[in-house]
Amino acid sequence: MTAVEAARVRDFEGLGALVTGGASGIGAAVATLLLARGARVAVLDRDCAGAPAGTLTLTADVTDDAAVRAAVDAAAEELGGLHTVVSNAGIGAIGTVVDNPDEEWLRVLDINVLGMVRTARHAVPHLRRSATERPGCVSITQTCSIAATAGLPQRALYSASKGAVLSLTLAMAADHVREGIRVNCVNPGTADTPWVGRLLDQAQDPAAERAALEARQPTGRLVGADEVAAAVAYLASPAAAAVTGTALPVDGGMQGLRLRPA
Ligand code: NAD
Repeated sequence: MTAVEAARVRDFEGLGALVTGGASGIGAAVATLLLARGARVAVLDRDCAGAPAGTLTLTADVTDDAAVRAAVDAAAEELGGLHTVVSNAGIGAIGTVVDNPDEEWLRVLDINVLGMVRTARHAVPHLRRSATERPGCVSITQTCSIAATAGLPQRALYSASKGAVLSLTLAMAADHVREGIRVNCVNPGTADTPWVGRLLDQAQDPAAERAALEARQPTGRLVGADEVAAAVAYLASPAAAAVTGTALPVDGGMQGLRLRPA
């Protein structure tokens, strides 16, 4: 089945989906794909300007617990129930442990880790209700990163934040499995998104930096946001009804392959 044919499968028909960070990059690709597959989709983002057409936009910052709660409740109300949560809002951080002060650690962890905690905290009561009506169709999928396990240089803070997301995914999966809520994460390698574009713009030699990022992945290219979205959609779909507590790498082989120069 081609990607275009897959997008015609309406396996999210009748389901309500909330995508955080859905106005850009991976989140926007997820929102677009879930819409194409029949979901009613809400985007929660601190800047909704880039949210895909056809989505319900909810402007909120994931560091604001009350705002997240209001947005999650509004999504459930407006979409006629909440079944799929894609917790994806996150930011990057560069540097070793020497480079970033406590304030920067707390700022990034507040977004990348607590943002997902807050989203889940307010979504779970809605998901519990949905799970009784649509068994197998109710899930939380979190955007983690290959940085959680890869030991990447210059990524101490970012890696620690994603390591926490990985552990959180597994613990949440255990807590909610008997309630019919599946919890998984995707671990993208470097994906071609506006975030990486901004990173490259700051590099001394953007072309050389891009080449280095591409070379780091065994496939020799960056991952497409739509390729990450396809993995998220699988994990959230009824086809994955038996899949929970899993981290799915979408990383051009970074985790699994140990290629050495010939
Ligand atoms: P992006 O910058 O293109 O999109 C991120 C979106 O999240 C933006 O719309 C932004 O407004 C929103 N956002 C950021 N902070 C927020 C906050 N506090 N509250 C609400 N919304 C907020 O980035 P992306 O590359 O699509 O990244 C999405 C996710 O994927 C992140 O969690 C990131 O860590 C993860 N990830 C990205 C890559 C990559 O190479 N691009 C690799 C692995 C994991």
